Amino acid sequence: DSTKRQEETKKGIPKTRIIKRNVPVVAIVGRPNVGKSTLLNRLTRNFRSGAIAVDVPGITRDRTYHSAFWNGIDFELVDTGGLVFEEGKDKVPFIKEIREQAMIALNEATAAIFVVDSTVGVTELDIQIARMLRRLGVPVLVAANKCDEEQRALDANEFWKLGLGEPFPVSGIHGSGTGDLLDKLTEYIKERGNGVQGLDNQIDEDNILRVAIVGRPNAGKSSILNRLVGETRAIVSDIPGTTRDTIDTTIQRDERIYCFMDTAGIRRKKMVEYGTEFFMINRAFKAIRRADLVVLVVDAVADIVEQDEKLAERIVEEGRGCIILINKWDLVQKDEHTYEKAQKYVQTRLAGVSWAPCLFVSAATGQRCEQVYNTIESVYEQYSRRISTSVLNQVLEEAILWNPPSTSKQGKQGKIYYCTQVSSKPPTITLFVNAPKLFKENYRKYIENYFRKSLGLEGTPLRLLWRGKK
Ligand code: GDP
Ligand code: GDP
Repeated sequence: DSTKRQEETKKGIPKTRIIKRNVPVVAIVGRPNVGKSTLLNRLTRNFRSGAIAVDVPGITRDRTYHSAFWNGIDFELVDTGGLVFEEGKDKVPFIKEIREQAMIALNEATAAIFVVDSTVGVTELDIQIARMLRRLGVPVLVAANKCDEEQRALDANEFWKLGLGEPFPVSGIHGSGTGDLLDKLTEYIKERGNGVQGLDNQIDEDNILRVAIVGRPNAGKSSILNRLVGETRAIVSDIPGTTRDTIDTTIQRDERIYCFMDTAGIRRKKMVEYGTEFFMINRAFKAIRRADLVVLVVDAVADIVEQDEKLAERIVEEGRGCIILINKWDLVQKDEHTYEKAQKYVQTRLAGVSWAPCLFVSAATGQRCEQVYNTIESVYEQYSRRISTSVLNQVLEEAILWNPPSTSKQGKQGKIYYCTQVSSKPPTITLFVNAPKLFKENYRKYIENYFRKSLGLEGTPLRLLWRGKK
């Protein structure tokens, strides 16, 4: 076992296995700007968690999954982010990665919707894509998009040329024709089964440890995720904020199943004009809410700013476990004080989560990335811990002995009778006292810290409820 670990460490990539989704996947393909995102939003009717359609060509660059339901069938639509072959090379960045992502999506797909633009007609690129799709042998539905008006439906006929059967005239904007398309699609899915390869064992949803990866654009969230997962799932690039949706990646590692939620992060101010800022912050916040614990990624060579603080605050408000990754450590000039200084800086600026363990990592070199899993496990253990009432009260007694509650100006002394844990995730302890107002903030902090130290609760919020006598 230890040699296995050593090997993993050497490679810097932990051993993981991607878990196949349990629902059929339908890939949406097509060249950029034909209206894939718009159609996808229309088909899922879910503007909030769906892809964001913005008038910037090729904005959807990652594989993002969207749940859909039609004719009693659950399935997922995956946006492949625009298939660009050689022609587009100069126009759209990371074309190779886009193709790679599209291929992964198509390989796991039960069916594909090939979106074309009826206002443009058949293009050379459409023909190339059609050829590729025929070779893959996946059932394909041709959606002739932008048939907004009745007479446009005739334009769809041109796409018979693609040799992929009857084209469906649709309008992503108005929704017309989408019902027929979905009818045909669910028919295909019924015929083919869900196309999912058997899982070794059924996944118990309750057994999944949900981890949100949050941080500012460019902090390295996607790179970290790739390190943790060991597969190119999210595209990494130098352009801030490539990852625009929450991408859930479920993996199994040893006995544990992890669901990583890679969030879009919080956009820089200049992105506000694209109108997506609201969605971005919202997504990060939503991911924090859905998570058991949060990996907060900060950039070692950038200052901590308000956006980082906002995320930290939200983690505390939601009561989530937290790990801080100080990423890009490879770029830092180090002397003997560097670690201490960096840690102090982060803990001071992100005071709300000053209890969270800090790891100095480099997603680029893989340095210490293997420790992330161990830290996740230990934080999760603390987060879910149940402590016996007798242990709690021993600790409490000790704390009071060292530092008894003070007496108020009116001569009343605070008394703590006993305490008990009322819930976990995060650990929540009720203290029964004579009068809560006799306990000032600094004394409450003292008790909290004493519990933390004595019980080894360093990566989880700890909630203390001060209850007076009725
Ligand atoms: P993608 O790059 O393929 O995902 O394309 P988008 O969904 O971002 O759409 C590209 C452009 O086409 C946007 O300006 C959309 O508003 C427009 N568009 C999408 N669907 C329709 C449609 O059904 N009718 C019309 N007229 N325009 C559409
Ligand atoms: P995200 O926006 O938070 O998902 O950030 P990305 O993962 O896309 O990373 C942003 C940029 O930082 C990319 O150019 C990465 O190659 C680079 N990067 C990420 N992690 C590291 C690291 O540990 N060291 C260095 N030198 N660069 C990194």
